[in-house]
Amino acid sequence: MYNPQEVEKEIIKFWEKDKVFDKVRKKNKGNKPFSFIDGPITANNPMGVHHAWGRTYKDIFQRFKAMQGFDQRYQNGFDCQGLWVEVEVEKDLGLNSKKEIEEYGLEKFSKACRKRVEKYSKIQTEQSIKLGQWMDWDNSYYTMDDYNIEHIWYFLKECHKKGWLYKGTKVMPWCLRCGTSLAQHELVDTYEEKTHEAVYFKVPIKNTKNHYLLIWSTTSWTFSSNVAAAVNPSLMYVKAEQDGNIYYLAEKIADKVLRENYKILERLKGNKLIGLEYTGPFDYLPTIKNIKHKIIAWKDVGEEEGTGIVHIAPGCGAEDHELAKRENLPEIAPIDETGDYVEGFDWFTGKNVRNIHKLVVEDLKKNNFLYRTENYRHRYPHCWRCKEELVFRLVSEWFISSDEIRPLMKKNAKSVVWHPEHGGKLMQDWLDNMQDWNISRRRYWGLPLPFYECSCGHTEIIGSKADLKKISVDPKKIDSLPELHKPWIDEIKIKCPKCKKEVSRIADVGDCWLDAGIVPFSTLNYLQDKIYWKKWFPAEFITEMREQIRLWFYSMLFMSTTLKNVSPYKSVLLNEKVNDEKGRPMHKSLGNAIWFDDAVEKIGADVMRWMYSFQNPSANLNFGYQSAKEAKKDLDIIWNLGNYVKLYCKHKKEEAGDVASKWIISRRESAKEKVTKYLEKIQPNQAIAEIKQFLIEDLSRTYGQLIRDDLDNPRIQATLYKSFIDGLKLLAPFIPFVTEKLYQEISNDKESIFLEDWSISERKYIDNDLEKYMMEVKYIIQEILAQRDKAQIGVRWPLPNVLVTNENPNPLEKFKDIIKKQTNVKQVIFKTGQNSIDLDIKITEELEREGYIRELTRRIQELRKKAKLKKEDKIKLHIATKENFLENFKEELKEKVNAADIKVEKKLEKKPKYHSIEKIKDKEFEIGF
Ligand SMILES: [Zn+2]
Ligand SMILES: [Zn+2]
Repeated sequence: MYNPQEVEKEIIKFWEKDKVFDKVRKKNKGNKPFSFIDGPITANNPMGVHHAWGRTYKDIFQRFKAMQGFDQRYQNGFDCQGLWVEVEVEKDLGLNSKKEIEEYGLEKFSKACRKRVEKYSKIQTEQSIKLGQWMDWDNSYYTMDDYNIEHIWYFLKECHKKGWLYKGTKVMPWCLRCGTSLAQHELVDTYEEKTHEAVYFKVPIKNTKNHYLLIWSTTSWTFSSNVAAAVNPSLMYVKAEQDGNIYYLAEKIADKVLRENYKILERLKGNKLIGLEYTGPFDYLPTIKNIKHKIIAWKDVGEEEGTGIVHIAPGCGAEDHELAKRENLPEIAPIDETGDYVEGFDWFTGKNVRNIHKLVVEDLKKNNFLYRTENYRHRYPHCWRCKEELVFRLVSEWFISSDEIRPLMKKNAKSVVWHPEHGGKLMQDWLDNMQDWNISRRRYWGLPLPFYECSCGHTEIIGSKADLKKISVDPKKIDSLPELHKPWIDEIKIKCPKCKKEVSRIADVGDCWLDAGIVPFSTLNYLQDKIYWKKWFPAEFITEMREQIRLWFYSMLFMSTTLKNVSPYKSVLLNEKVNDEKGRPMHKSLGNAIWFDDAVEKIGADVMRWMYSFQNPSANLNFGYQSAKEAKKDLDIIWNLGNYVKLYCKHKKEEAGDVASKWIISRRESAKEKVTKYLEKIQPNQAIAEIKQFLIEDLSRTYGQLIRDDLDNPRIQATLYKSFIDGLKLLAPFIPFVTEKLYQEISNDKESIFLEDWSISERKYIDNDLEKYMMEVKYIIQEILAQRDKAQIGVRWPLPNVLVTNENPNPLEKFKDIIKKQTNVKQVIFKTGQNSIDLDIKITEELEREGYIRELTRRIQELRKKAKLKKEDKIKLHIATKENFLENFKEELKEKVNAADIKVEKKLEKKPKYHSIEKIKDKEFEIGF
């Protein structure tokens, strides 16, 4: 019985004890390199089954390339910094705000973050070993290491030299809980359906009586900072009377907003409204008091929802901010980084935006600005890490400008081979929409941005630790820095090169995608050893989930284009998401998430890898234990075939032979050719499908059937043996444990299957016609067996003949014996014509007797088996029957069941030691020996 868990434990031990992985690397050392760069896994939690999918691909291709003899680095990576880790550490420590982190102490906090990374990187390493992944685990890279940080500093300095680095004031998505802005690439996939109370409010137009603009908005917290209202100059608006008031709003939506009891007084184009001034709802706030509110033009104003008149608060919305620049409007930023209103906002001051909505509505009502409210469902962005609803805030952040680099990145991305091809298009789309890269985060555990802003106006960008030492006030301090993280790094002050004043580092840390993006430089030791770097750069191959287009693939491409103007990777395999068996996303809250440890314990790593390998990478994988059962069945077949080969195949030298063997050899060699081609073209699912076809369908089922009675033949043993071992070698990168185990059991050519060379196809044995005709023969056999089934004549009863009419029967002639044998038909007649199969089911007396003998033979063999006789043990056989045709078959029977003597009687005189009564059709035979 194949027990994956047992096999896997045993093989892990074997690999460790015999240092097999080291031997593989030693064997390939100095050969042509194949560069794979690992996308770092966040060392923040134990692995889920979705991680194992991507890691399986990594291992498949590295093992395949190793068997091909390529020298490889096998460096695994851990992502260590950023909100991922910080938020989990906050939870662990019971902290829930930046204030609480600072009270707790930054030194302790940083140490706790490092400890978490160390803990989970160790767990993930152990899990990956269980998955069968071969990596140089002692040499994993960590993005928190100083050399990684220094390489990013170097990159930032290069950006600075190109004039791309700048500090800008922009309205950015902001998480109030985490207290930091987020970048464009952190927003995708964070939009969720939410219901908010939307507000219709009315603002009086100056110098009129009871004339109001009707404005609609879902963000009441921003009303205090309203400076303008925008209309679309080319849309049609109306002036409508209701309850003695006159309202202005878009014509198309008027009925939906005003509902009833209103009268349209006038229709007018939006441009007629531009320039009008109005009284804002919060003009009594000190900050707003002197602001003139006016109506401005904006062509993006729509009339599908709202009122066709848009509330503009340039400190609270990205588009508002752009409009403000054009219209020269004041920008008012009402809240601080935690969402508290700042000074100058009267009763708002000190209150938090999260709790302000009701108060705003009450205030509007009290001062006669409220029209009405309604619930509104829309898609709203959330913090990708802590799930808090984001707000948009006017902030000063650091950016890398994207305009100059965009065309270069687009060109470099085109040099990449994407699997699937569609990935290339997605990358181009992302680059088309790429905004300037917001690289600063107001957090703690991350890349310290090496920017020093002096009050004299000079900003110093540091490119290395050595540069920092040169310019620092106290260079000795650099040498005693435990690491380049906060809070330690902030102890280092520099002397401003312009005015000689002492300057501190800015407090911000960097976007964690800088950490991962620099990896093709940092892990290849770019700054220290250019020869080494050149050997391994760019990566031949990388593979991660599709979402990495806007994350890791993007950040690497950005950084590499900046530094070298080339793509850091040549080919990319993308994979999709892992869902549960029913296709629902796995969630802890749904209770359907499967952790890696549970899965590997329950079904074993090879079964998981088999499932991952078969999956089309561009479709979501529905993972569950039911489909695992199907996968296990396939592995059972391979296991059983292995045991069969072990039991029967004593001869290993292959020679040319009969047509069946020629066919399986041809199949084997073409499978080798196809599998290699698929793997070279990064099509793992096609590769394994071909292996399955060869090993399970062709070798185990068809060939196994064809040679069933010929296993004594050394030539057949050798062909079966070689075909199985070659198939096993193709399969080894996919399911390394069971293939290693079977190899150990059956072959002793090498210490490990992974020390074997990749099987190169011997093309001279490939006979495409033979493979094609064999398919037809298989079909003919199936059809004859189906006709037998229909006539309810079991295959043990010989039939006289079959007429096979075929458009081109000549090539099929040489398969006659196979068809006869497999279908137990005495004669196969081919005729040219339209395809049909005509089976003669008349059983003559003679054929019937043959059938009885055949069946009787089988029953006797079974009894021999029960008696635990060996093949060579002779028996003295007694048969009692009323039939008298047995006499004629005595000699044949003797040979088949290895009997020294056969006695046929009417009745058994005395019962022999082994004995049974067999009913065959309506006849009875008593046998014994
Ligand atoms: Zn957050
Ligand atoms: Zn200065």
